[in-house]
Amino acid sequence: MLELRHNPITDEWILVSSDRQKRPVQPATSTCPLCPGGVEFDRDYDLAVFDNRFPSLKLDAPPVEHPADEIFKNAPSFGKCEVVMYTSNHNSSMSRMPIGQIEKLIYVWEDRTRELAKEEKIKYIFPFENRGKEVGATLSHPHGQLYAFPFIPKRIQAMIDAEKKYRKEHGKCVICDVVDSELKAHERIVYEGNHFVAVTPYFARFPYEVHVYPKRHISFFMDMTPQEKFDLAVILKIVTSKYDSLFDEEFPYMMAIFQSPVNSAMEDFHFHIEFYPPKRDKNKIKWMASVETGTWTFINPTTPSDIAKQLKDTPYII
Ligand SMILES: [Zn+2]
Ligand SMILES: [Zn+2]
Repeated sequence: MLELRHNPITDEWILVSSDRQKRPVQPATSTCPLCPGGVEFDRDYDLAVFDNRFPSLKLDAPPVEHPADEIFKNAPSFGKCEVVMYTSNHNSSMSRMPIGQIEKLIYVWEDRTRELAKEEKIKYIFPFENRGKEVGATLSHPHGQLYAFPFIPKRIQAMIDAEKKYRKEHGKCVICDVVDSELKAHERIVYEGNHFVAVTPYFARFPYEVHVYPKRHISFFMDMTPQEKFDLAVILKIVTSKYDSLFDEEFPYMMAIFQSPVNSAMEDFHFHIEFYPPKRDKNKIKWMASVETGTWTFINPTTPSDIAKQLKDTPYII
């Protein structure tokens, strides 16, 4: 079963993708399907992108199995789910990759965004990474993913609505103002580069949440200068390296990259990246429990400025 189902109670789309239950689980290095010579690649590679074998969205989505009801609406799962291989080195990670390799990855994200946006029915292109078994990563080989949605997902729409409201009231972009305020307050900065800044935001939902913002109002990877791309690679390496140093382990996280919607009226949303580590301490998990899942309200058991200080003081290897 592969289809989109609409929830009329919350007005949101759900991806029904029951084949995903057959996905492989974390294998030993020798059987990694993502290593050169594994199931996916018969030879060595540098970076690579391929279609997810168990996609929730595909360009040749099957027609919906049941006609839509008055209330229960469905739609074909049109879109794309890609796997983005960061490197052929199984034991690497964003925190350990050379800066040049992260830079290449940024060019790959840019290229995929430009390519997928050509499909008019695609409305949102979302690169992300789930790192660690705590966030459900089934393969440990360093890789991320990318979903191209045929709709603007609910939380993105909430951000766009908030930005529109703020712009109406203040005449400027809310994220530009958040960045200015964080730079002025100087309490929650984890690392500041020339063009990007990493902060534990004032309104962090997860204890070790970090946001990476460009100082300039840009909306897509395509808008970045080569210098900005280099700077972004540096800051991504520093943030993830600090994460790994924090408890001296491969720190699990979810990394969400927010660009503007494509093929829509709103194409100037402020690009940024959000990291959500699931841990609240070395051996403690911050669960998405009843309040978080049921009400979309997060309880942060830490103070973002304290975490910023802790992360700022945490060493990193570049
Ligand atoms: Zn591997
Ligand atoms: Zn802005």
